[in-house]
Amino acid sequence: MDLHLGDWADAEGDRIVATLCDWLRIPSISAHPDRAGDVRRSADFTAAMLAAAGLEHVEVLETAGLPSVYADHLHAGPDAPTVLVYGHHDVQPVDPLEEWASPPFEPVLVNGELRGRGAIDDKGQTLFQIEAVRGLLAAGRLPVNVKFVVEGEEEIGSPNFEALLEAERERLACDVIVVSDTDMWAPDVPSVCVGMRGLVAFGVELRTAKADLHSGLFGGAVPNPAHLVARLVAALHDGDGRVTVPGFYDDVRPLTPAEDASMATIPVDEDAWREMAGVARLEGEGGRSLLERIWTRPTCDVVGIAVGYAGAGVKTIVPAHGRFTVTFRLVPDQHPDTVEAAFEAWVRERVPEGVAVEVTRMGGVAPAMTPVDHPAMVALCRAVERVWGKAPLFTRIGGSGPEEALGRVLAAPVLYLGVALPDDRFHAPNERMVMDQFWKGLLAAGELFVELSLLG
Ligand SMILES: [Zn+2]
Repeated sequence: MDLHLGDWADAEGDRIVATLCDWLRIPSISAHPDRAGDVRRSADFTAAMLAAAGLEHVEVLETAGLPSVYADHLHAGPDAPTVLVYGHHDVQPVDPLEEWASPPFEPVLVNGELRGRGAIDDKGQTLFQIEAVRGLLAAGRLPVNVKFVVEGEEEIGSPNFEALLEAERERLACDVIVVSDTDMWAPDVPSVCVGMRGLVAFGVELRTAKADLHSGLFGGAVPNPAHLVARLVAALHDGDGRVTVPGFYDDVRPLTPAEDASMATIPVDEDAWREMAGVARLEGEGGRSLLERIWTRPTCDVVGIAVGYAGAGVKTIVPAHGRFTVTFRLVPDQHPDTVEAAFEAWVRERVPEGVAVEVTRMGGVAPAMTPVDHPAMVALCRAVERVWGKAPLFTRIGGSGPEEALGRVLAAPVLYLGVALPDDRFHAPNERMVMDQFWKGLLAAGELFVELSLLG
């Protein structure tokens, strides 16, 4: 079916770009408490855009933190599926400010890219969804029931979002969730994300003495927590880069043949990736490709160690306590609770008697995954293929976000319709939206609504 969305977007183009620029001028940095008023202003702006698009029941949703925004349009009939669109209206901090070619909250359009904080993450990607609905409503052709939830705290780890989902479970009920907050492999290599890794972190605290001891008087006869920390950290991986915690890999689900085949065709340039990372060599689990290491395999990284004295000169002590923090990135079907039990047992087994040890878990997000053969995923692939002219490859995201909670609490599959490009400078100076990707995203969002309506 010809949606005529392209003609509509051409006619409305100037207004849409002006709207995005107005939104980008609001410095809705959720990490800065003194910007809370701006995040509220951004929520109000979001609500006004949703209302102008023809959505109903528009409401700023208060939480224990910064507000999200809700809106819906539920007139496609009882047999039509209900699609929940997720986006976020808060943005990352802007430092280092001196690295921006133009001020972060004064958007400029240069060579077909709109530059400004939030252009791609996630105001631009949320706006093409809103405008796709607006265009279809203007033509009287919105074929699904649509709900929007636009979060205000995504960039600080969504601390209140799961509680919001629980509280609003009925209002947010849906058949499928569409998230536009991810990227594509390249403009001419369309791809869709099918899952995100989970995350769980632990602090390990060791205490060997009541207070630091003189290394001349006591050294050689008392336990040294720096040595203990080093031994534990070194023991986390074997010589082949594999995590040694027993059972760690037991729940890792193998890739399906379709995902395996798709991953094998992704044109990855390891040298370019290494240079982007700014490292001279790559490491990781033996026998695994770069993409497996960053997408589909679980990891363990020590993120910090604090023990003893490392200031100027020498302090002749045997320290009394030490700590390290470790993060595990998890893949389906690993679970933070299982990893917690295994890791804690692993630590306790290695700490000698007489040394006090405390393992503290921090956070925990389970991995998220939408099967590539799910009918909704097939619909997404069709929509992307229609706009980009090629079937998309399947990718994953190494990080984690609120998507797992969305899918779990609302019990619906999560689709990722993201148009960002790897060099759009997410979270970095000179963030941008390539506008050709924006217009394609708008068309693909419309096509996806049609494809989903055909699923019934
Ligand atoms: Zn984002």
